[in-house]
Amino acid sequence: MIVLKIGGSSGIDYELIADDIAELVNAGQRMVVIHGGSALTNEVATALGHPPQFVTSVSGFTSRRTDRRTLEIFEMVYCGQMNKGLVEKLQGRGVNALGLSGLDGRLWEGKRKAAIKVIENGRRRVLRDDYTGKVEKVNTPLLTTLLEGGYLPVLCPPAISDQGEAINVDGDRAAAATAIALGAESLIILSNVPGLLENFPDETSLIRHIPAQKLEAFMAVAQDRMKKKVLGAQEALAGGLKRVIFADGRVEKPIQQALAGAGTIIRTT
Ligand code: ADP
Repeated sequence: MIVLKIGGSSGIDYELIADDIAELVNAGQRMVVIHGGSALTNEVATALGHPPQFVTSVSGFTSRRTDRRTLEIFEMVYCGQMNKGLVEKLQGRGVNALGLSGLDGRLWEGKRKAAIKVIENGRRRVLRDDYTGKVEKVNTPLLTTLLEGGYLPVLCPPAISDQGEAINVDGDRAAAATAIALGAESLIILSNVPGLLENFPDETSLIRHIPAQKLEAFMAVAQDRMKKKVLGAQEALAGGLKRVIFADGRVEKPIQQALAGAGTIIRTT
């Protein structure tokens, strides 16, 4: 079982990725796919007159400010164009893809954060109207039913809170939770960089191997949004996965290349 997370940043080639998924799945590989949509969400939000805002938590992690209007736009893009676009690409390649958000069937359940402490212009501020949280529970029986029925689940945020509200959750960490729940062998995270870079944005500074127990030290190398991926990798490995691979989503056969050793491989020894 492979859990594949496809980023939503510009440059990621969904056609090449769909080709590769189809080749693997049609050859019998078991897989669950999770996708992002951040670049298109930013575009649509700006076009709709509600431009994106990002907040930095006191612990240094950046996330999208998700007020009610942002949540609506987020759903239009993630559950709409991004999810259905990918399902269509896969269906066109003979894969029986089935798209769901974390809301559907309580696939990803978590708690909505009552308050988030952020740093704004060097000052601390508390946000109480944010629809964000973290996946704490995965509806594994639902995923197993779909997989046994021959479907390829294609998943995206939002998740659902214990109160039944939609909550924006980080896709990389949701992918980690899903991989743990399914007892997956590998988690592959495709993005618009070749992997974790020692000196971002210098692509020749790719870090090839990281032993799981040394991952914490690499948090310093990851800036802004890459930090969440490192955190997701940590969570996945702590939850029993053997390896997490950060690889390039802009190249031909990105998954097969990742499995053959391209990108950054983080593994337990
Ligand atoms: P996605 O949308 O693919 O999930 P993000 O844009 O959230 O990905 O995160 C990946 C981004 O993290 C890269 O495009 C890059 O701009 C940034 N980044 C920061 N530090 C690093 C690093 N050390 N190595 C690689 N990428 C980094």
